[in-house]
Amino acid sequence: MSHWICTTCAVEYPEGDSPPAACPICEDERQYVPPTGQAWTTLEDLAASGHSLEITETEPGLWGISPTPRIGINQKAHLVQTDAGNLLWDPPGYIDPAGVDRIRELGGITAIVASHPHMYGSQVSWSQAFDATIWVAECDRAWVQRDDAAVRTWTDDFEVLPGILLSRIGGHFPGSAVAYWSAGADGRGVLLSGDTMFPLPDEKWVSFLRSYPNYLPMSAAVVERVTNSVLTRPFDRVYGNFGNAVRSDARRVLRRSADRYIAWVSGANDHLT
Ligand SMILES: [Zn+2]
Repeated sequence: MSHWICTTCAVEYPEGDSPPAACPICEDERQYVPPTGQAWTTLEDLAASGHSLEITETEPGLWGISPTPRIGINQKAHLVQTDAGNLLWDPPGYIDPAGVDRIRELGGITAIVASHPHMYGSQVSWSQAFDATIWVAECDRAWVQRDDAAVRTWTDDFEVLPGILLSRIGGHFPGSAVAYWSAGADGRGVLLSGDTMFPLPDEKWVSFLRSYPNYLPMSAAVVERVTNSVLTRPFDRVYGNFGNAVRSDARRVLRRSADRYIAWVSGANDHLT
């Protein structure tokens, strides 16, 4: 029997002779079921069709992990290295022995955290390969599709490893989390934002949405709230969950991006439309 993986979001489901009837994550208004209908794959099928993991250094102590060819939402996972063990952030939907060997060379994985349920990926398969704890924001616990004894919950601010603080800031999901890595960016601090703050192509702005595939906005009040929440902590660089980044002066970028977004959703610029 295989563990089923939704082809649209690449979140893993329990094993069974036949796939689940539906993917609740994709049926939610923040995701989508393609017009061709719900489809499923397995790790075995992905391996047989030539998938592998591309693992590259993003900056000292931080590695990006991407399945290639792409699967599902196609997030870039991050491995954050610390002396007390490593964090796997926004785990990929795919895993294979070669990838496990490479991650083992980089110190393995102690803790696994997804910024929000779209990013659960194959978190239980990753956990079992490294005997790692899966930390899930308690208020999003019901979104876990493949449950496991390694799943534990956390609330509000939580130091998952020394030097890595999780904070539940909400927005996209009530349990949407960011991670502050204090040693990142040469000690100036890194914010792993998932897609709560989404760095844009010029790396000088970010944006905010309830749903990226369906272009659903967030209100001015929520954008102000999540921005104020992250600005209570020090950091200079932001990485989103697609390899997108604001590499320096990120606090100023977040503030002015929030101000721009709030102006547009509040009608301040309606005379321009
Ligand atoms: Zn799905």
